[in-house]
Amino acid sequence: MVELCNMRPFFICFLLTICIFPAFGQSLPEDWICKEHGRIEHQLQRRSNSGVKHGYLIDYNRCKWWVNPRRNAYLRGDVMAHFTIVNNTDSVGFDLTANLTVDDVYGKDGSLKYRRAGNYLYAYKPGGWKAGERDSVGIRYQGNPTNGGGFGYFTIDNHMKGPIIHTLSEPYGAQYWWPCKQSLHDKIDSLDVWVYTDTGLLAASNGVVIRDQVINDTTHLMVWKHRYPIATYLVAFAVTNYAQYTQYAPLVGRVKPLPVLNYVFPQFLATAQQETKQVLPIIRLFDSLFVRYPFVEEKYGHAQFTWGGGMEHQTMSFMVNFSFDLMAHELAHQWFGDKVTCATWQDLWLNEGFATYLTAITFEYLRPKADWLQRLRGMRGDVTGKDDGCVFPKDTLNVGSLFNGRLTYNKGAWVLHMLRDKIGDSAFFKGCRIYLTGTGRSYGFGTTTSLEQCMEQASGRNLDTFFKQWYFGEGFPYLKINWKQKGDQLTIQCDQTPSHSSVPFWHIKVPVLVHGEGRDSLIIWEPKSLSESMKIRMPFQVDTMIFDPNVRVLAKASVGGMNLNKVQQKAFVIFPNPAQNSFQIFARNPSVIDFELYSALGQKMMTGGTNGRATSVFTIGLETMSSGPYFLRINDGNFVYSYKLIKQ
Ligand SMILES: [Zn+2]
Repeated sequence: MVELCNMRPFFICFLLTICIFPAFGQSLPEDWICKEHGRIEHQLQRRSNSGVKHGYLIDYNRCKWWVNPRRNAYLRGDVMAHFTIVNNTDSVGFDLTANLTVDDVYGKDGSLKYRRAGNYLYAYKPGGWKAGERDSVGIRYQGNPTNGGGFGYFTIDNHMKGPIIHTLSEPYGAQYWWPCKQSLHDKIDSLDVWVYTDTGLLAASNGVVIRDQVINDTTHLMVWKHRYPIATYLVAFAVTNYAQYTQYAPLVGRVKPLPVLNYVFPQFLATAQQETKQVLPIIRLFDSLFVRYPFVEEKYGHAQFTWGGGMEHQTMSFMVNFSFDLMAHELAHQWFGDKVTCATWQDLWLNEGFATYLTAITFEYLRPKADWLQRLRGMRGDVTGKDDGCVFPKDTLNVGSLFNGRLTYNKGAWVLHMLRDKIGDSAFFKGCRIYLTGTGRSYGFGTTTSLEQCMEQASGRNLDTFFKQWYFGEGFPYLKINWKQKGDQLTIQCDQTPSHSSVPFWHIKVPVLVHGEGRDSLIIWEPKSLSESMKIRMPFQVDTMIFDPNVRVLAKASVGGMNLNKVQQKAFVIFPNPAQNSFQIFARNPSVIDFELYSALGQKMMTGGTNGRATSVFTIGLETMSSGPYFLRINDGNFVYSYKLIKQ
């Protein structure tokens, strides 16, 4: 998902109040109550891993929902779960918030006994269930789902030309509107969604439409069929007076193009038809770079909604608009997030870091190179805007922290970018393909450890240090690079200061581009300590050095230096020029100087000097000056020297 505005803090408060208490007059087993003191994601893992709580592996859900946004946000549902029992048990469990009323719980032979326990429902069958048994339980329920929590799990809104109801369950919200197995360990193998709504309204959902029928004057039924495994939080529907159209993405090596179904607000139909065309080459790009579009036998699609961003609901991304970036991001999730879903919320960067990086990759392949480098610089600037923070989320219950744009998204993307640089394009894309196709991950769940293993398999390299420092480590390195050239020998000194104490030394490459006499040379160096120097023979006289010209390293660097050969020929040499935040005056012989700096219009901007002391190097700061040309006058008591200087 991607939100286009800042997270709102009230989400946090809401999530912290989620607790499970016994329903009135009922009691819970001691161990269950104790478990509820743990974190929600731990509950979810425990329940589904052990099978103790839900008691089954989910095979199929048939969800029937009755909604009419023209009237209100009231929801009536009939959800049938088909499952396979894990161990002998007398009950099976479902997540469902306590404020929704259950009318009936039924099996093949009629109504079953059930018990509510907070946001949980147990169904019982006489004689219980045996391990390996396949069975089904249906739940009829109704009520007003909570219109809050997370990113607004079940929302009624208005898009100016009509009311809309839409859902968005990530991360913890499915149980707020339907009885389900809310889990990051077990996907629903197959899904049917039936939506009964008012005539004239369309319902968007996962998969393909197999029935679109006006039942009577007041009821329109749409049935969606999805035959790929799907994580519970990716099940969704949206209902409003949509206009619809289909476009087609041709895929390499496949005769039938992929249909891209668009459900858009009617007032935006004409513009949307133009904008959504842009997603077609992106589908083709990802399909070629990684593996086949994961749901190719069905479709891809967009459904417009009013939440301020996008959400990668499987085969049908919900979108606030159809901007290039948002379409690329949500599409990327169909591979990274939907086909392979993060196995814990701590692994969320495997969804969001990949989607952010793949959005940048569309600039690399489909836009001019300058746009791609600019995108990388922008993301790097965001990450290095603060000295702390790691990709690993410390608090997965805090939705704002979990979906942190600077860390989970941009730093996650930058980690992938550096991984690609470290092992090379061929190994990186091969590692991605192994990750997307491996047993348990393909249409299942992926972990950070499994990504590391895939990349190690593809590259034949040990990536332990890389993943440890970039996944768990906070911050990034500050680099101070100094160079000098004497004769043909270029000496480069690199001093590293980690921005945060969690990483004492960053193992990184230091690429620098040196330029002079109309020639340039790229030097890539990997220092092994905080302070290190290297010497290299340089066949030309260097004027300037630029750090990381191809934008491959997550670091902040300052570069300073001088060419001693040039200093020896002239009384004064100005380095660097053009300059960014400062420049230096190098004197051939230690000198007492005064200087004046003038703007291009002749206005005196700055004066200074060595205060009567003879010195060889004098630094002048330019932080407060605007970009453009300046004139520098240096007076050493004998002569006045003039230089033109450019501030970048
Ligand atoms: Zn996303």
